[in-house]
Amino acid sequence: MKNKILVTGGAGYIGSHTCIALHEAGYDIVVYDNLSNSSPEAIKRVSTLIDQPIEFIEGDIRDAESLKQVFTAHHFFGVIHFAGLKAVGESVAKPLMYYNNNVSGTITLLEVMSEYDVKNLVFSSSATVYGDPENLPINEESPRSCTNPYGQSKLAVEHILEDLAKSDDRWNLIALRYFNPVGAHPSGQIGEDPNDIPNNLMPYISQVAVGKLKQLSIFGNDYPTVDGTGVRDFIHVTDLAQGHVAALNYLEQQTSPEKSCLDTASTKQTSSKSSSVGFLPINLGTGKGTSVLELISAFSDVSGQAIPYQFTARRAGDIASCYASANKAKSSLGWQAKLPITDMCQDTWRWQSMNPNGYNIS
Ligand code: NAD
Ligand code: UDP
Repeated sequence: MKNKILVTGGAGYIGSHTCIALHEAGYDIVVYDNLSNSSPEAIKRVSTLIDQPIEFIEGDIRDAESLKQVFTAHHFFGVIHFAGLKAVGESVAKPLMYYNNNVSGTITLLEVMSEYDVKNLVFSSSATVYGDPENLPINEESPRSCTNPYGQSKLAVEHILEDLAKSDDRWNLIALRYFNPVGAHPSGQIGEDPNDIPNNLMPYISQVAVGKLKQLSIFGNDYPTVDGTGVRDFIHVTDLAQGHVAALNYLEQQTSPEKSCLDTASTKQTSSKSSSVGFLPINLGTGKGTSVLELISAFSDVSGQAIPYQFTARRAGDIASCYASANKAKSSLGWQAKLPITDMCQDTWRWQSMNPNGYNIS
């Protein structure tokens, strides 16, 4: 039997898709989420899709006692840590909330992992840690800098993970730096469900297409790009989910000679091994840039809907272009993104048109 994985934030957008990929890869999963930005309906639908109940615990990563109960009840190989707040604008308005949730919450999780000797972690980092990149495509050695509290919280956690790896070589810590996750499960049953008016491009486009929003504002058409609009590396969420499976497989391989074993006397887990992953940052992107206008055109083609738009001023803090070098993911994890922009648009449209109000089905 495969290893058991704790998935924090597993009820959210990327987490729910990754739960399916993990299940399909044979992993046993336990989802831990406080539902602050997700719905129990997502868990229900994932259970239906995998035809098996999901072990779900409603809890907060800042609650050490609750986490300890979970670690006492289960023998985890490792943790995939999605739980976090992610809205850049909100982070500027409420920095303490973001640092508390994303940084303090992660420290609490790491402390409990350490206590239970679970030292394998896959962390959701972001391309935002690269700030305004000097060179494209962006590789993992590029300088890091952030201008908003959300980005700072991701960077702070990366620094914490680096220090932790230096302090004790039994830690195996992969930071996956996501570029722009979009798309939905091909069933149309789960997808991205923003609470409010979307901040991000793809959910905004799909809500215009379905008639919930009137028109898209394109923030700037004077960037030094192919058509003047911003360029991003959009990646299908199911490809991203597979990237997490690849990261776990890598951790298993690296730690396999003397695998984690259960110390039955203490019911806590002990691990001993020869090689250490340390801190390993890896980009998850396609390596290809797509402009705002190109994405609109692709979405319009697959959905058959017009996407009315107007050009407005640049959005503060935006950069012109951002796309990944995906070489390290391929060479170290054996992973690469497969799905093109058309699939990203098609699957987003299926999810949006089947669920115009997201998980809010009442
Ligand atoms: P999401 O909001 O859909 O999922 C995050 C989940 O974490 C939610 O279900 C939320 O309820 C839960 N959560 C938040 N704080 C928690 C806490 N204190 N305790 C327990 N659960 C908590 O977001 P997502 O898009 O799925 O993103 C997942 C992770 O990936 C986040 O850490 C995010 O910062 C990171 N990320 C996302 C993107 C993106 O564009 N979606 C890009 C780069 C990085
Ligand atoms: N964008 C836009 N209108 C919107 C939302 C986004 O023109 O309503 C542009 C934005 O300026 C950027 C691109 O779309 O060039 C991607 O923005 P998103 O917020 O999705 O991702 P991020 O900027 O965080 O990479």
